[in-house]
Amino acid sequence: RMKLNLTKVVNGCRLGKIQNVGKTGDHIIDIPGCLLYTKTGSAPHLTHQTLHNIHGIPAMAQLTLSSLAEHHEVLAEYKKGVGNFIGMPESLLYCSLQDPVSPCPAGYVTNKVLQKSIIIGVIEGGDVMEERLRSARETAKRPVGGFLLDGFYGNPATLETRLHLLSSVTAELPEDKPRLICGVSRPDEVLECIERGVDLFESFFPYLVTERGCALAFSFDYQPNPEKTLLQQNGTQEEIKSVDQIEKIKTTDCNQEMTSFEINLKEKRYQEDFNPLVKGCSCYSCKNHTRAYIHHLLVTNELLAGVLLMMHNFEHYFGFFQSIREALKSDRLAQLKELIRRQAC
Ligand SMILES: [Zn+2]
Repeated sequence: RMKLNLTKVVNGCRLGKIQNVGKTGDHIIDIPGCLLYTKTGSAPHLTHQTLHNIHGIPAMAQLTLSSLAEHHEVLAEYKKGVGNFIGMPESLLYCSLQDPVSPCPAGYVTNKVLQKSIIIGVIEGGDVMEERLRSARETAKRPVGGFLLDGFYGNPATLETRLHLLSSVTAELPEDKPRLICGVSRPDEVLECIERGVDLFESFFPYLVTERGCALAFSFDYQPNPEKTLLQQNGTQEEIKSVDQIEKIKTTDCNQEMTSFEINLKEKRYQEDFNPLVKGCSCYSCKNHTRAYIHHLLVTNELLAGVLLMMHNFEHYFGFFQSIREALKSDRLAQLKELIRRQAC
């Protein structure tokens, strides 16, 4: 059954592979890594065909119990299981109780379609250290396949406290089982959690960014050539200035404020910007379209805007995780962290 092989642990950061995953046991999940965020098994805005144009798609898709519960009767009638129903019979599915993006209707219990699954133990306890430790120790005694660290997100002002709790909790967990965290998905916070022994993350951040008409534009190239760095830094400073100006404005589609990791394509300044979303990005959207075109799609409410932004944002985010693993492998995580820290605000 499922087995975690750690190849390297540096200052608490874990690099490795989860092996023998899935029905046939031939799936591998790289850690640190993320899950593919889906709505009932399909990536938002994307068909399976467009999804497979994205490089570096995670091996495991996340779907939520609430969305399964909505389809409970249909699934019971269908009989061939969730994987077949959503058109991903070969995929690994992780079913979470909560959709990180929308609140969960209360009161659903275990669904029959999930019976043969590996159970992930949830660690609770809020902000109370004693309760957190008790939850971690008790859950570690149970026959679980891994751990879900719940409730470590929230007000940025209390981040330090939560990170301190997180280190204490992961110290209580066995080394040989994966730790997944929910609700944490911003690049800077992801790195903080990896340093505290977290292996897997959700990938709802690129989805939120897409929903507010933005594109991830932060750099995770921690070992660029000096000339390129200078050019990129100049570019980034310019973009960040504009983030400051509009940071206070909440977008209509989503009440989450935009972050300094993204650019807002609805802004007029992109109307005649014929550059790709991110220079050098090898995603479908950047190779075929310009910022000006995506700006046009957004202001005219074309559905294609969401498709193109989602493709870029997923690929950019999965690339970030790839770069974390490479940085860990070559002992350069500190450089990557410094690069991300400079872009966070
Ligand atoms: Zn791109």
